[in-house]
Amino acid sequence: MTAICVYCASGPVPQHYLDLAADLGTALGEAGHTLVSGGGNVSMMGAVAAATRAAGGKTVGIIPGHLVDREAADRDSDELVVTETMRERKRLMEERADGFITLPGGIGTLEELFETWTGGFLGEHDKPVVVLDADGFYQPLLRWLTDLQGAGFVAAEALERLQIAQSVADAMALVTRK
Ligand code: AMP
Repeated sequence: MTAICVYCASGPVPQHYLDLAADLGTALGEAGHTLVSGGGNVSMMGAVAAATRAAGGKTVGIIPGHLVDREAADRDSDELVVTETMRERKRLMEERADGFITLPGGIGTLEELFETWTGGFLGEHDKPVVVLDADGFYQPLLRWLTDLQGAGFVAAEALERLQIAQSVADAMALVTRK
């Protein structure tokens, strides 16, 4: 069994992104994996957790106390950890996971992705970091990062650490690859 941390949106996004989150949750549950998430029951966060459980997977939600109401803490989670701070949430999410998949999201998702990605590049962990670039959502960011690499601001090895998947199946294969 593998624990996979999923970072994704908490906002009112279009339905097809909720469907994507549910598809990933279904794949995680069917594979018998555990979902580690931000512990919210809203938007894509809620969709991935509900679908993981519906497909037979376990879910671990980790949420700071001050967001319990705002993000509708996922009380159906097999394990719900309420932390004192956002930093503690991120630390525990990273610690509890064997790998990371980032779905489309906003500034919270981007912050989580960058912290986990840079942490791996700096040698703080050696866990796979996958971006599920469904329908080109992350193309503008990836293009910018590639330009920054060309200009010397971003190391080639850093970009190589970021694994880009085009589909749920790709992301599942990349995140569990040894
Ligand atoms: P968003 O992508 O902005 O919809 O947020 C997705 C998740 O990221 C939500 O659970 C937010 O609470 C969380 N988030 C927001 N800010 C931060 C932050 N500074 N560090 C980590 N997670 C955050």
